[in-house]
Amino acid sequence: MRIGILAIQGDVEEHEEILHRLMVETKRVKLPEDLKDVDGLIIPGGESTTFRKIMLRSGMFDALLQFDKPIMGTCAGIIVMAKALANEEEPYHTLGKLAIEVERNAYGRQRESFEAQVEYSFDGAAKVAFIRAPKITGILSDDVEIIARLGDEIVGVRDGKNVGLTFHPEITGDTTAHEYFLNIVKGE
Ligand code: GLN
Repeated sequence: MRIGILAIQGDVEEHEEILHRLMVETKRVKLPEDLKDVDGLIIPGGESTTFRKIMLRSGMFDALLQFDKPIMGTCAGIIVMAKALANEEEPYHTLGKLAIEVERNAYGRQRESFEAQVEYSFDGAAKVAFIRAPKITGILSDDVEIIARLGDEIVGVRDGKNVGLTFHPEITGDTTAHEYFLNIVKGE
């Protein structure tokens, strides 16, 4: 099994480190042809406007629309994957892989970045990092499963084989989210 990590921008190394600890081979994905031999893809946190610009230019955006293997998007990654964005003035290209609406930078200045304990629906709790995180402001299909909560808030979803988390699971070194994603890739 080989997991691609979109290596346009953002924290690629931290995801690699977690996957290597889980004995999984990784590949940095920059161009559409890099997707050929990966079994799943992680879209890391970073800046979603930068992802969008570079992906549209390189053909990666269209390649990912066609890509039908599992994708896990974290932070900026969930923004790139969402079907709809709240409060954006200009039309914003997204992949539409997750039937949710998200709002960028939704925690405001006071709480721009923080670490917190999230509850996973499948395996207890883990400490993770929220960094200028988005919020999930709407669930647009009954097929969307809630997989992570921060108190009452929904912070992680699964839609078919795709996963979106509003936070960074990789920074605190916890492997729970990645293990969950790998099970989807394995078809379990
Ligand atoms: N605020 C960023 C955005 O809107 C996401 C931040 C992150 O990925 N840590 O794309």
